[in-house]
Amino acid sequence: MSERILIDPNPQKLLLLGNEAIVRGALEAGLDFFAAYPGTPSSEILDAMLSLADSVGIYAEVSVNEKIAFESCLGASWSGLRAMTSMKHVGLNVAADSLMSSAAMGTRGGFVSVVADDPNMWSSQNEQDTRLFAKFANVPLIEPSSPQEALDLTKRAFELSEKYGTLIILRTTTRLSHTRGDVRTGFLPQKIIEGKRRVGEFKKDPSRFVSLPQNSRRLKVEHASVVKRLEKEEGASFIELEGDEEAKVGIIASGTAYGYVKEALEWMGLSKVRIAKVLMPYPLPRNPLKEIFSNVDRILIVEELEPVIEEQAKLLAFEEGMRVEIHGKDFVPRDFELSPEKVAKAIASFMKKDLPIDFEELESKGKEASSLAPPVPPTLCPACPHRNTFYAIRKAASPRSIFPSDIGCYTLAFFPPLKTVDTTVDMGASISIAHGISRSSKEEKGKAVVATIGDSTFFHTGIPALANAIANGSDFILVVLDNGTTAMTGHQPNPGSTEGTKRRLSIEDIARAMGADYVEVVDPYDIKSVEAAVRKAMDVRGVRVIVARRDCALKVISDKRRRGESWNVYRVNEDLCTGCKVCINAYGCPAIKWNRDKRKAYIDPELCWGCGGCAQVCPYNAIEVMK
Ligand code: SF4
Ligand code: SF4
Repeated sequence: MSERILIDPNPQKLLLLGNEAIVRGALEAGLDFFAAYPGTPSSEILDAMLSLADSVGIYAEVSVNEKIAFESCLGASWSGLRAMTSMKHVGLNVAADSLMSSAAMGTRGGFVSVVADDPNMWSSQNEQDTRLFAKFANVPLIEPSSPQEALDLTKRAFELSEKYGTLIILRTTTRLSHTRGDVRTGFLPQKIIEGKRRVGEFKKDPSRFVSLPQNSRRLKVEHASVVKRLEKEEGASFIELEGDEEAKVGIIASGTAYGYVKEALEWMGLSKVRIAKVLMPYPLPRNPLKEIFSNVDRILIVEELEPVIEEQAKLLAFEEGMRVEIHGKDFVPRDFELSPEKVAKAIASFMKKDLPIDFEELESKGKEASSLAPPVPPTLCPACPHRNTFYAIRKAASPRSIFPSDIGCYTLAFFPPLKTVDTTVDMGASISIAHGISRSSKEEKGKAVVATIGDSTFFHTGIPALANAIANGSDFILVVLDNGTTAMTGHQPNPGSTEGTKRRLSIEDIARAMGADYVEVVDPYDIKSVEAAVRKAMDVRGVRVIVARRDCALKVISDKRRRGESWNVYRVNEDLCTGCKVCINAYGCPAIKWNRDKRKAYIDPELCWGCGGCAQVCPYNAIEVMK
């Protein structure tokens, strides 16, 4: 769907992704300022904001990391504007310092922070529940369970943020962010329709905006009472009760889990159940829950990941002296993403009912079917410049070398045949881990520490780590895999990109200005030059930085496709191919396949993006441009 549809002023029914519904909700709320760093599953929010910003008169930027995005929005909110940031759950770790320090300082213009959790770690290094963060920071968190609610609650979040002067976290999960559903849109305010940018004004209030202990102590107590008041005054509207009012069994669910509960109950033909949908898991609304507690004997709480509602509900029942039996994680899995099947199993076991479907049989049939398809190992794209970079690093540095790496599509070099990723932890950690390893290991000839980091990650958190390593006299090679974009999340610009930035920053200039002991820029499409640069760097001591620069192949090819241009395709000359398999076993472009009958390699022309890397790698010059 074109993002333009999101700014149609007429209320209508649209089929929207959860993330698109959030964008529309923010526009209907009259958003003024947006800043974010991309992170799946939240990235579409940033993409849409960037593409619509000029037409609707909002300021939108790709910030270098989530902390900076959060603080930029805080500044805008304190200037009286409506501000929003979006991030993935691990992005909140980066912004956590700002969140914890500013939570009690409150907001002026509405400030909403969308945080997208990724249960099951579909595209993340860990699994976290942002609702725990909300509790930790004592910040109200609301959670939609459908795209319609994503729109409605985003709008509501701005109203609450302004009414109570507090940040509101809007939590989604991968399933909701990327689910499409019918959404009835509302009206856009005149300022959005006319595309008029509002200007804010910061009014000084040092007793509130300066986090000296004497201010922070007072603000903490004041903010706690604000959160309590919000729960008391608004809580009833954040719990929806449904189902059989006479039922003695209750189910409380939130977010996507609510949909699974409805589906499971339908499968199982169970209707004698009272259901409470929780739209604000923190602070948990007390009065509507007391109502359900007093009418049922047993309750099952179905929530994804941590027992956030369960613990609050048990405390509430204890404080109110209510004798209702409350269950949750003793039936519902705590790890990974929920599904209708998992929820159905939990409900069946809780209610001592039989399941209408034999899930074990279905699962074994599924396994049988998927075993028929040949396994496709995860790999870098055809023509990815950094396949060449990793290949050259492996050739130059002995296999005994250590390869700390980072978060991005290049983490795929963990897999064979490249196998040039020994560690990844979080954004920017390649450099600090390399520093730690090099400072704690004894020097051995031919054993180098060669770290790799992408350009966007370098700007995100790599720069402070590099400053630390240089200032502490560290000793390792850093290869910056510069593809001119933030590829993994959908090609958003970063400060080093040639497109989409007001002023481009140079990675090599930054490294030189910081005092790196050796800096060189190479073209990864020339494999020998990268190999030579790594070999040369191995003869130097200190922090050595090599910038391997070439645009992301996926972006280059999609731009060419859009412009109707063609590109060279390579082929294997069967007369010259010896079947040595170097192109497959050491290099591994997914376009290169093996012909079992002929015992020769061949190139799938549909997949070849014409980089010529394989031709440089083949020891027998058997790969050539197709005529
Ligand atoms: S590296 Fe060259 S010779 Fe060896 S299998 Fe591939 S195409 Fe054939
Ligand atoms: S030229 Fe070779 S390495 Fe490059 S995309 Fe085509 S097959 Fe892959």
